[in-house]
Amino acid sequence: MQCVVNRRAQFLASHHYSLPELGETENLEKFGRSSKFPGQGHNYTLFISIAGELDKYGMVLNLSDVKQVIKREITGQLDFSYLNNVWPEFQQTLSSNENIARVIWQRLAPHLPLIRVQLVEHPGLWADYMGEGMQASLTISTHFSAAHRLASNLSSERYSKCSRTHGHNYHLEVTVEGEMDSRTGMIIDLDALNRVVENDVVKIFDHFCVNKDIPHFSEIVPTTENLVLYISNLLKSPIQKLGAKLSQVKLFESPQLWVDYQGNGTETFLTVKSEFSSAHRLAHPGLSLEKNTEIYGKCARVNGHGHNYQLEVTVKGEIDSCTGMVVDLGALNQVIANLTEPLDHSFLNRDVPYFGEVVPTAENIALYISNMLRLPIQELGAELYKVKLVESPNNSCEIYPSDIESTSVTTVQNQPVLATV
Ligand SMILES: [Zn+2]
Ligand SMILES: [Zn+2]
Repeated sequence: MQCVVNRRAQFLASHHYSLPELGETENLEKFGRSSKFPGQGHNYTLFISIAGELDKYGMVLNLSDVKQVIKREITGQLDFSYLNNVWPEFQQTLSSNENIARVIWQRLAPHLPLIRVQLVEHPGLWADYMGEGMQASLTISTHFSAAHRLASNLSSERYSKCSRTHGHNYHLEVTVEGEMDSRTGMIIDLDALNRVVENDVVKIFDHFCVNKDIPHFSEIVPTTENLVLYISNLLKSPIQKLGAKLSQVKLFESPQLWVDYQGNGTETFLTVKSEFSSAHRLAHPGLSLEKNTEIYGKCARVNGHGHNYQLEVTVKGEIDSCTGMVVDLGALNQVIANLTEPLDHSFLNRDVPYFGEVVPTAENIALYISNMLRLPIQELGAELYKVKLVESPNNSCEIYPSDIESTSVTTVQNQPVLATV
């Protein structure tokens, strides 16, 4: 069973964009203020994603080893550096966000089972690289504030208080993909992309009432699912004209609820985020304290420690043409609350029978949650697509239940076996 583990790392570095074959004026025209010597600096945040089977200790890889590799190969070399000079790769292709992510991938790939390198330049801009030649994606984020009410012509009671006119600060993330230029390292003109999103989306929605001011929504109920579909249609062709492909639009109605759309008919991914606070101890009951300490480090301390776990549950489905939703949100929240209530304010190893035998690593907790949610979500007419469990800002993991072929909830509940459900 595959599990994805994300490890965060950070470095501070400066760089500047200028190509020696271009004159000063041309560089300024092409790269704007970023061409000014000696350049500018960023607090880069890096998310390294690896994937693999869970081992008998409930981990894909020992996280402290992963941490050491990232430090030795990447952050130890890039931190407090001038990127243009630090690695020879950046003389061939500029240190754009996309290209830094690509080069980091190349340097880490011999050491880790990578599936994604994400590099965040600032909260409004990041790049993802997944090992495909010069192919990368870039995401920008922005926001708008709008009013709406959820009531189709057919069923106004269905939406409870959402049928009253109210509003949100919508947070929007637009992801484009394309081929990096071999010299600039860029897949798209970033300023042009920002202008498209601002003019074609933000200006249309910001400080308007969606139902009354946007004709499309006079008949169609403006759920987050329908909004994201509409926004994607607005952006698709202008982004194509900029030489890239719109690959995903993500719209947050609140920090606890968002919808992803990847351009596939009416298929959308709805995520709800919740929290539970638990203590745990990483130690296999069959091993000595010494051995457990060797494997789990300080996480094996006998009296345990705890986390505020953030749980993101993503369901996949077609938008219902009547309700505008992929799933009944109230029912989904109830299913999740039923599961997390016994985990919240508990000592997992002692209070949750399953973790009496199975070491409650983040990976095993996510797997447990995924197995417990699969059927109830199926009964709501949707499909559980992903469970993401954020244990700390540095560590999170993801389970994609459709990868699990033969696992059933009954197996998990009745036969606790260390990390091999
Ligand atoms: Zn609303
Ligand atoms: Zn812990």
